[in-house]
Amino acid sequence: MPTSAPVHDYDLFVIGGGSGGVRAARIAGSHGARVAIAESDRYGGTCVIRGCIPKKLFAYAGSFSGLFEDAAAYGWEVAPPRFDWATLVRNTSDRVAHLESIYRRLLDGAGCAIFDHRARLVDRHTVQVGDKRVTASRIVIATGARPFVPDAPGIEHAIVSDDAFHLDPLPERIVIVGGGYIAVEFASIFHNLGCRVTLVHRGEHVLRGFDVDVRQALTGHLAESGMTLRMENTVTGVEKQPSGQLEVALSEDQPVRADAVLCATGRVPNTSDLGLERAGVELAPSGAVVVDEYSQSSVPNIYAVGDCTNRVNLTPVAIREGHALADSLFGGNPRPVDHEAVPSAVFSAPPVGAVGLTEDEADERGYDVDVYTSNFRPLFHSMTGRRVKDFMKLVVDAESGRVLGAHMVGEDAPEIMQGFAVAVKMGARKADLDATTAIHPTSAEEFVLMREKRAR
Ligand code: NDP
Repeated sequence: MPTSAPVHDYDLFVIGGGSGGVRAARIAGSHGARVAIAESDRYGGTCVIRGCIPKKLFAYAGSFSGLFEDAAAYGWEVAPPRFDWATLVRNTSDRVAHLESIYRRLLDGAGCAIFDHRARLVDRHTVQVGDKRVTASRIVIATGARPFVPDAPGIEHAIVSDDAFHLDPLPERIVIVGGGYIAVEFASIFHNLGCRVTLVHRGEHVLRGFDVDVRQALTGHLAESGMTLRMENTVTGVEKQPSGQLEVALSEDQPVRADAVLCATGRVPNTSDLGLERAGVELAPSGAVVVDEYSQSSVPNIYAVGDCTNRVNLTPVAIREGHALADSLFGGNPRPVDHEAVPSAVFSAPPVGAVGLTEDEADERGYDVDVYTSNFRPLFHSMTGRRVKDFMKLVVDAESGRVLGAHMVGEDAPEIMQGFAVAVKMGARKADLDATTAIHPTSAEEFVLMREKRAR
């Protein structure tokens, strides 16, 4: 018997070539599905092209400045170092281009049809991509998010994080607006690269959503580093002077002069002008695609993964969502994505690492908690004389002894926290940490040496 021809051109059409979309396409292709993917910009999306990867490379560049200074305490005589911004921009851009080519190769290897065009839904099975119209049994929206810039007169003179990787020249003075991940990461990068940074944030402490002690510790570190903090302030206007300089008016302080203003005031789902409403896909007031735990939208054959769903907006989460979706649809392994105890890191200077509940979240969930903290000068800085202190915190359920959250501000916090994230996810108890032998001398060992409960 001849098999009937497929009803649609593709089994799966993915709109968006970032981390979540590429993973969904690749895995679906490896399961034998006929897959197409469309991306109007560069494959790799925010993380690879204008986010995590170039940001981390810039953070590495910034980290040298402190090391050059600290080297003297260890006997090194370092000639006054000179930093060339153009070299960093060029080398980072080359690296990103290489990663982009790997993404394309992976898609190609999985047999996916690649469209370098913007795609829009015509109806729930039809996609307009460039000048072609194709149909698919299932469609995945993986269009990510874009920077949100609050309204203020002259705010069009501000840049967003996408632009920060291509500034020419490196600004001598920069105002950074916001107190979230992106604001504190870029404030640290530009400060370490020698710019005079003013961080303007509407709150008292940076990093809302993180543990209160972490927020206080990092805010203190940023202030002590020598950058200027203008907390509990908003930007009320930006005026371009005839000299090209920008005058930034603040709600509670004197205006600040700068060569650049970077707005890092959050991101919004990239869901407009995609034909989603036309296809009947429900959107939240934020613009996020409303999905269930299997990433299925209100239209049964349309799914969404990653930041456009505004669940936990992190690359590894988008990747897990894309992978789980492809396995669910084509791999015979249906499963939701677990969004509990997702670890994350902020690559500020010093960096932050965290997993699980903050102390406030544990209280809100009705736990009776024990809190353990440690504040200590890392061995490295006992020689340099820098007044740097690392901070660590454990939030423990008093009843079961389970570690609900682990938090750190200090060198290597992101690296250290990955291992503790496994322990927290496995339900480790404080007694398990106590029973673990320390690795000495490290900073990480503090996590298994905390004995004194903090008074609450
Ligand atoms: P965040 O949501 O983390 O922070 C936004 C900041 O802007 C907050 O401090 C917020 O203040 C402030 N803000 C929002 N609206 C206004 C306004 N109208 N006026 C003044 N300030 C305002 O967003 P980011 O842009 O920093 O990052 C976006 C997302 O990207 C993050 O949520 C994160 O998931 C992801 N990301 C992750 C990274 C990592 O894993 N290392 C790195 C970079 C980004 P308030 O706190 O008062 O609301």
